[in-house]
Amino acid sequence: VPELPEVETVRKTLQDLILQKTVRDIDVFYDRIIRRNTPQEFKSILEGRTITDIGRYGKYLLIHFDDITLVSHLRMEGKFYYKEADNPKEKHEHIIFYFTNGMTLRYHDTRKFGTMDIVQTNDLYSEKSPLSNLGLEPFDKRATVTYFQQKIRNKRIPVKGILLDQTILTGLGNIYVDEVLFLSHLHPETKATELTKLDIKNILLNSTKVLNKAIKLGGTTIRSYTSSLGVTGRFQNELYVHMRKGEKCKVCNTEIVKSKVVGRGTYICPKCQKPTR
Ligand SMILES: [Zn+2]
Repeated sequence: VPELPEVETVRKTLQDLILQKTVRDIDVFYDRIIRRNTPQEFKSILEGRTITDIGRYGKYLLIHFDDITLVSHLRMEGKFYYKEADNPKEKHEHIIFYFTNGMTLRYHDTRKFGTMDIVQTNDLYSEKSPLSNLGLEPFDKRATVTYFQQKIRNKRIPVKGILLDQTILTGLGNIYVDEVLFLSHLHPETKATELTKLDIKNILLNSTKVLNKAIKLGGTTIRSYTSSLGVTGRFQNELYVHMRKGEKCKVCNTEIVKSKVVGRGTYICPKCQKPTR
């Protein structure tokens, strides 16, 4: 599952490949990826337009065409491929953008959970946009202890659930939440109401640290997810707990254990992350 750092890797790669390319034609083979328009509208809005910038917010990719933005979420398995137009269509390629330079951008998605929405660029952060309910990214200057406290007020769920909730902070998924909780010495079952100011400070600091480092290393390549564009992340070598069940903690040499918290596979060091402190 691509998380923020992996989406950032895709963004940077796309930036090098498709910036300033003009869409000549679009083929839509699976309609339901496009949520707000019919395939016909989708084509007629984007055909003839030039890509002016590629952005990202949380795990959303933002392909800007000046005043129009294509908001793409890769979900479980979504990938983009950049290929010559005469390459045969592969089974899971659901949307193909043909550029005037003879190349194509192909959206490939074995699970078909990915989404694309066309939004007016001016409305990107308004209620008309899929981004409207998202919280701040951890590296946003406005993501302060006070902001976080306000967002978790009255929430009685474990901190793991808090960090996975994209309306509080956006951009942390299962891998990075485990790492942030380890670095913050917090047990994932700790109730939101039990978090001290210092805990929150640590969470924000470590979220920024972990995400920035993962971005620098091109993300994490676990199991089948490799960014389609030939980029393999290297952050998996830096993980302290996630996917390290049975290995020794790099800090205290205790064995890493796996359990389920808020329904997700969760890795902790039982010594560094005690339930009661
Ligand atoms: Zn430890």
